[in-house]
This record gives sequence, structure tokens and C-alpha cells, in this order.
Amino acid sequence: MKFGKNYSYLEILQYLLNLQQKYPDKVTVESIGMTFDMRSIPMLIFGAGKKNIVVTGGVHGRESINPIVLIQMAEDYITKKESVFKNKGCIYMIPLLNPDGYEISRMDHALWKNNANGVDINRNFPSKTFEEKWEDDKPGSEAETKALMKIFYRVNPDGYLDFHSRGKSIFYYRSQMNDAYNAKQLKIAKALATSTGYTLEEPDHEIDASDSGGNTVHFFSEYFEKPALTIETVAEEERFPLDVRLQRETYNEIKDTLRVFLKTI
Ligand SMILES: [Zn+2]
Repeated sequence: MKFGKNYSYLEILQYLLNLQQKYPDKVTVESIGMTFDMRSIPMLIFGAGKKNIVVTGGVHGRESINPIVLIQMAEDYITKKESVFKNKGCIYMIPLLNPDGYEISRMDHALWKNNANGVDINRNFPSKTFEEKWEDDKPGSEAETKALMKIFYRVNPDGYLDFHSRGKSIFYYRSQMNDAYNAKQLKIAKALATSTGYTLEEPDHEIDASDSGGNTVHFFSEYFEKPALTIETVAEEERFPLDVRLQRETYNEIKDTLRVFLKTI
């Protein structure tokens, strides 16, 4: 991936298909679902080993840096002769879960987070803290939510990482989970903080008072009881649309996170 460029969804898709064509024995690209605006959601499968992890980016439309950086991280792995993961794990990466929102934010709605149906996917997952935000608001109603839930059930992963922006911080605490679960989460979060230079979010920041639960890691932690963390890239003071210069800076910060996560889960 060339950094410093504003990629369209189609350019991203084409790039992934080229990657598969170039390294057919190293990476598989498949479609895991179709969005409201009829875009296919791509997933990359690469790596080998006992542990399986799922990694997502681009859940929120305007968070345009992470999808590009994640694809570069996948490419690093695929193209390296000596694997940095040392057969530690198999990675199921969905770099752009919400392609409709990504495209809407690239047009004239720089602040757009939702999907094309106007729903925040990261408040749409079944969980104990899910709240109805309008009449008949049901968890799992959206194509993107369903697609990711299906992958979780199919892969039954040992851990899950979700990349968002902004804050340069790591959310690890889960109020709905027990102390043993949270102790492990803290251990992983500390390793990730060392690797990225990001800070740990306070436990009481998990859900804002005015907000609903039902995000990706809520669902995953409650249903699979395996580690699930949210990594917020990009400094809080950056403005949307995010500047493409943040691709390289973010890459330098998070490029080791998959390796560190596989090692600590
Ligand atoms: Zn987000």
C-alpha cells in the first residue's frame, strides 16, 4: 500500500484482489457479506498456527486511516520470507467492515460514522448493555453486523481486535465480565500500550453515560469469553476528514500489534 493517498473503496478492493493474485498461497480474499448499497465486504485470511484471531477496521465510516494501515500490516506478513508471526496464528482480517460509510464520508459528509442505512454498527451488536435507541431498534439488524457475527461463529477466535480512531488509547475493561477476564485484558492491554505508545482508557470510559452499549467487543467478549480490545489510533485533536499523512504515522505505531496480541492471548 502506498501511503499518503486517499483510496476509494474500489481501489481498496482491487488492491486486495491483486494481492491474492500475486500471493495465492499466502492470502485468501473472500466476501463476507453485501451492504445496503451493494458493496461486498472483503476479508483477508493469512498466517498459520494454532491460534485464530479476528481483526477489524473501518467500522465507522470516517475512520479512514486504519483500513489502509491494516492492509499494509497484512502485506508485511504475506510478503516477508521469514514470518514475523512464527506460525503463531491465523488472522482473519476485515479491514473495512463499513464500506458504504467509508464512501459516504469521502464524499461530502466528512463526519459520517454510520452505515448507509443510518445505523451505527458499533451500537448494533447484541450485548447486555445494548439499549434501544429508537422504536424497534434491534441488535444485529444491519448487514455489516450480521456479517461479522457470522465470522465470529465460523472462526471461533481466540481473540479479537477492533481498530477505531481517535485517541491513541486502548479500551480493555469490560464491566459485564468477571475479574479474571479483566485481569487478562489488562495484561494484554499493557503489552499493546508498550508496543504502540498509546495510553490505557479508564475502566469507567467503557460506555459514556449518554450512550448505548452493543459494540463489537461487547458482543465478542460476552458470547465467546475470549480477549477483545479496541485500539483507538490517531490523536484526539485531529479533524475529519483525517489527513492521509496519518497513514504512515499510524502504521509506525500499530505495525506490531497483531504479533503482540497473538503472543499475549
Ligand atoms: Zn470508531
